[in-house]
Amino acid sequence: MPCYICETCGTQHAPTSEPPSHCSICDDDRQYVGWSGQTWTTHSELSQRFSLRIENDDGLLGIGVRCEFAIPQRALLLQTSVGNVLWECVSIVTDQALSELEARGGVDRIVISHPHFYSSMVEWSDALGGVPILLHEADRDWVRRSSRQVSFWSGDVHRLSNDVTLVRCGGHFPGSTALLWEAPNGRSVLFPGDALQVATDRRHVAFMYSYPNYVPMKTSDVRAMRERLSGYDYQDVYGYTWGRNIIGNGRAAIEASFERHLQRVTS
Ligand SMILES: [Zn+2]
Ligand SMILES: [Zn+2]
Repeated sequence: MPCYICETCGTQHAPTSEPPSHCSICDDDRQYVGWSGQTWTTHSELSQRFSLRIENDDGLLGIGVRCEFAIPQRALLLQTSVGNVLWECVSIVTDQALSELEARGGVDRIVISHPHFYSSMVEWSDALGGVPILLHEADRDWVRRSSRQVSFWSGDVHRLSNDVTLVRCGGHFPGSTALLWEAPNGRSVLFPGDALQVATDRRHVAFMYSYPNYVPMKTSDVRAMRERLSGYDYQDVYGYTWGRNIIGNGRAAIEASFERHLQRVTS
């Protein structure tokens, strides 16, 4: 039975003989149903229509679906002391992507910030030999295609190693997670998914409950995120998609953005 993929959010669902009646990710008010109604595709059909963009993004290998499909996130390969981490995921797996990853030592685990980027995570895990997928437990109910490879962490902080720490930011989703990495080149890097969104000027970030529907994040959630990130120092911030990165002075940019946001919503 095929595992249908929602054409609007790019999430692969559990195997069914017929397409699911709806996509709960898109029905949710953080997303939207496509303007032509709910439509579905499959991995094999999608792979014929789209290729992957596999390129360097500010020094890291990025993988994203080329051209216009669903949410345009790109995954990144992080070569950490605890093994190679594929941070985030996309809707199609290709042989070229697998060989590019293999050439860099493969992937030891997939870690994803939140449900909008679960995409085809099980397809990826299977193609990578059954590597574990690590998600926050608070978003467990949003998993559309479950697998024994999926495991959950809980709480606000999860240290994978001396150089990799997961921090629950919350706000956008209860389990929205940022990854902090002390990279071997000496730089400290924050990967926030879209728990906070790198702005177009690449000097600030924004905090929204829904980006496509312009729904603000609760002020209490913004404050809680600020508190949870306050103990970490980082220079660079890699946002959710290509080039949406703040290289240098990342922590100062985020602190200034928290300040600006809270001033505007409370004045
Ligand atoms: Zn959807
Ligand atoms: Zn999102």
